[in-house]
Amino acid sequence: MRNLQGRLDLCSINTATLGHREPLNQTIDRIARAGFGGIAPWRREVEAGDLAQLARQIKSLDLTVTGYCRSTYLPAATTTEFNANIEANRAAIRDAAVLGAQCFVMVVGGLVPGSRDVQDARSQVIDGIEILLDTAREYGVPLALEPLHPMYAANRAVVNTIAQAVQICEAVDPARTGVIGVAVDVYHCWWDPELTASIAAVGQAGRILAYHVCDWMYETGDMLLDRGMMGDGVIDLPSVRSCVEHAGYNGLVETEIFFAQNWWQRDPDKVLAICAERLQTVC
Ligand code: ZN
Repeated sequence: MRNLQGRLDLCSINTATLGHREPLNQTIDRIARAGFGGIAPWRREVEAGDLAQLARQIKSLDLTVTGYCRSTYLPAATTTEFNANIEANRAAIRDAAVLGAQCFVMVVGGLVPGSRDVQDARSQVIDGIEILLDTAREYGVPLALEPLHPMYAANRAVVNTIAQAVQICEAVDPARTGVIGVAVDVYHCWWDPELTASIAAVGQAGRILAYHVCDWMYETGDMLLDRGMMGDGVIDLPSVRSCVEHAGYNGLVETEIFFAQNWWQRDPDKVLAICAERLQTVC
């Protein structure tokens, strides 16, 4: 496993970690100044700014864009809505290409509101992914399916384990062309009894596109906004990273924390300093 000590160039910051409190151009400067090698911005920040200018800024600071967050949910109640979701994702993939993103992060969506049909949601997800593969191929931005913890199956993602994500990748891209893979996020998969085997399998398929870290707090009070800083929770981070790297992943380690009552209240430079310290010592 790689030693991250003194290697912030191997570390990336997902901008959600800073709570989306300032314009993206300021966040980009802050992350570069702190010495990180990568950034993963969100659409709402990019779309609020000047895409071409942001892309130039990121490039001039030599930051790797470890992912562009994230897809519009795919499942919809009507064909018109489904098609609108596809179009929104196509536009985002084009923006991801301008940013030079290594992947477009797919949080695929949950049930259609009012529905109890999880199979329907899953089949809409697969249909949507198949359609988007053409755009991904055309713009050279691979789709990174991010399985979410099953507590989000209703409202955020009906793809919930790495094994399920790999199965979808193999079904839609059996030739393993590189157009689709998986974002492994410790928050979503640490509990999985099949974790080691699943990571080995996704690596074997050459499909690990991103690796996200934070921590799971022993007492989690909020399903979305209680993600801990690395080292503060229960995840055996070195052991997961060891699996991921043994499986062939050699990209950046991205910090992605949503913790409204804590990290989003603190001075952003101090948050980045703590991320840097934890990445180098406990990840
Ligand atoms: Zn993630």
